[in-house]
Order: sequence, then C-alpha cells, then structure tokens
Amino acid sequence: MPVAETSPSYRWEVPPSTPLRPAAQTWQPDFDALRRQDPELAGALLAELERQSTTLQLIAGENFTSSAVLAALGSPLANKYAEGYPSRRHHSGCELVDVAERLAVERATGLFGAAHANVQPYSGSSAVLAAYAALLVPGDKVLAMALPHGGHLTHGSQANFSGRWFRFVGYGVTPPGAPDGGGLIDYDQVRALAREHRPKAIVCGAIAYPRHIDYRLFREIADEVDAYLIVDAAHTLGLVAGGAAPSPVPYADVVCATTHKVLRGPRGGLILCGADLAQRIDRAVFPFSQGGPHLHSIAAKAAAFAEAATPAFAAYAHQVVANARLLADALAAEGMTITTGGTDTHLITADVTPLGVTGVQARGRCAAAGIVLDKYALPYDPQPSDIASGIRIGTAAVTTQGMAEPEMSQVAPLIARALREEQGLAAEVARFVGGFPPYPA
Ligand SMILES: *Cc1c(COP(=O)(O)O)cnc(C)c1O
Repeated sequence: MPVAETSPSYRWEVPPSTPLRPAAQTWQPDFDALRRQDPELAGALLAELERQSTTLQLIAGENFTSSAVLAALGSPLANKYAEGYPSRRHHSGCELVDVAERLAVERATGLFGAAHANVQPYSGSSAVLAAYAALLVPGDKVLAMALPHGGHLTHGSQANFSGRWFRFVGYGVTPPGAPDGGGLIDYDQVRALAREHRPKAIVCGAIAYPRHIDYRLFREIADEVDAYLIVDAAHTLGLVAGGAAPSPVPYADVVCATTHKVLRGPRGGLILCGADLAQRIDRAVFPFSQGGPHLHSIAAKAAAFAEAATPAFAAYAHQVVANARLLADALAAEGMTITTGGTDTHLITADVTPLGVTGVQARGRCAAAGIVLDKYALPYDPQPSDIASGIRIGTAAVTTQGMAEPEMSQVAPLIARALREEQGLAAEVARFVGGFPPYPA
C-alpha cells in the first residue's frame, strides 16, 4: 500500500474545548463501587488479577495493558452510541467521542505510516472478516497458510465463516529435516499454488510463526497472479511499532491486526490500508459487519498507540525479541526441539516429546506449577491436535513485567522441572513472578 503521512478520508475541525465541572475534572473509574455493589463479581475480578500476578504468563497472544489503557476502558465512553465515523455519525452527541476516534486513527496511521486506519474492529477476527468483505465475494478463492501449519481460524477453518464462505487453498511450511532446517514458509509452494489456483487474495500472517515473513516476496507473488495481499499481523504488529520487525505496510493492500498482543493495547482489532481501499474497508466494518463502535476500547487503542510511539516501547519490543531468543536457546538446552531452531519474534514453538511428554501433558504439568502456556500441534505433528507434540510460548507479557535475559535463563529450567512434575514448584514460581508485579501498588 502507498505509504502516507496522514489519513485523507478524515477531515475535521478542531473540537470545541469543553469547560469541565469539578465533578468531571476529578472523575475516575471507581472499582470500590463494584466491590460494594457486587462482591461476588468483584472478588472474581480481583482473584483473576491475583492469578495474573502470581503465575507465569507465557501465552503468546497475551500482554499486560498499562493503567492508562485500563482507565480508558473503564471510562464513560462505554456509554456512547456512535454508529458511523467521526463527523459522519448516525447518532447525536458524538463530537467528543469523535475526538477519541480521530486520535486513535491519527496515531495509528502515524505509527505505521499507513494512509488509512480503521480502529473500530471489535477484535482481530472482526478485522479479518471486514478485510475479506471489502475485497472478496462469497465463493472467491483465497490462498492462506494452512491451519495445521499455523493459519488462524479466520484463514479458512470449516468451523469459521472464512471456510464456509470462501474457497481456501492452504500453503505450508517446510517439513522437519528439509534443507532449510524445516518450519519455514515454503515460498516456492506459495508461488506454485498461486499460479495454479489464481486466488483473488493471498493471506499471510499466522498464529505461531516464529520467523520474519518475507512480505516483499508475498507482494511479488500476489502481483504475478493479480491477487490482493492481506497481511494478518495480529501477533507481530506490536514488534513493527517498536521497530523490532519489518513492516508489512509498504507491501500489503490491507493489514489486519489485534491491538492486545505485543501491541499491548485493549482487546480489539485494527485495519490499515491505502487511500484507494479506505472507503471499502470502512464500509466493510460498518455497516457491513459491525454495529456501533466500542468507543471506550477505541480510546484505549488511542492511548496504546501513543505509548507504542515512545522510545520506551521500542526498547520494550527489542527486549521482547531478545528474551524470546534467549528463552528458545535455554529451552533447547533443556532438551526441547525448537521449531526453526530459534525465533525472530516474541514467539517460540517447541517439540516437548524428546522429554517424554505430549503437548497436552506439558500444558497440564506447567499449569500445576503456575506456568501458563499453550499446547501446540506443530506442523507435520504426528499427534492429533488435542494431544499435540508441542508447546507455544511468547515473551510479550513477561517482558512488560520487566523480565529480561537473567529471568529468561531461569524460566527454561522452571518449565523443564514442571515437565518432570517436581513437587512444590508452584510456590517457587509465585515467588519468582512476585518480583515483577504487572500493576505495582
Ligand atoms: C489472534 C489472531 C487473530 C484473532 O484475534 P481475536 O482478537 O482473537 O479475534 C487473527 N489472526 C491471527 C493471525 C491471530 O494471531
């Protein structure tokens, strides 16, 4: 997509500055109100915070948002209906929520150098749905990473709208023992399948691909067969924001993402595109696939995009990758086989069967020790996916907590000891994690 400085589809006047009454000046989210009114629910929320603070969070798509992001999520913007887009709303009284959405759009376009951003998708899946709706009609052919090799549900699962409404063809990664070491996207296969099937769109981006994706090569292949290139950068756009991974923006027609993974914003979605597709994308989000935007979430996205533009976030993104690299090496030293031999990102997938356990056993034994990670069916996994040979872990959350290389070298042995079902480990993990409170008092 052509890289641009500003979003041409949004033109607005400076909002009226609104004098605040004292009550508004001092307003803040009141968690005590929930405690008083609904102790049962408040207790569950606080217990969840306790769980997050006393166990080791290694789920690859999770992170800890800032208190500023949480404050925006808990703000009265949750009350406002604002169907449409800034200055073009179906409802009255939207002037001030417009400010929040414009800030989110401006910050997203600025952060990623995209001409246009749509910040309304409710989640990553909603963003992908809208991207397909903007570019495809039901029955169109789409070439995407096969699900058993790391494609997301929205990349053609029969259980998902994508597989029902479009004809997906799947490409994969090279097998273990391949000349490239295995586990890498088979670009020759992508090109061959593209030529054979002439898809209307090619999708790249995955739920568990540890290496950088060659977006330039995908663009070349898409151009060769006159297909759109959709990049689903749900996992990695936060690394892009911090300059720790190459950007898909110059190459893709449309970039879809989540805002809650490495990007560390609220749970939600984001779409970036060129000016040429701006109107189609906006219509595909609203009114085609969504109703009123979640403005509290959009405000929280604006806060997160501002944070992601800081030098501190760039340092964070680079530390996320450094942590993952070190952790991959340390897990290999414990006897696991790391897919592709390492990682360029926040994400690691590892075969745990050399240690005598399956993926599902590894997940359970780690959970018993307070280590929260996913089982993962590796590409070419001989086990069924509910058993799996592998685990998938990510370093985005622990890095937000302040963990760095010294901690990563402690995490790998903790995982290995958990797999050996060592007793009393949960208390040790809780002590270890307790040194890195996600929300210090
Ligand atoms: C996480 C993810 C999504 C979906 O995001 P949700 O917010 O869970 O809907 C889509 N695509 C990819 C590649 C992902 O990793």
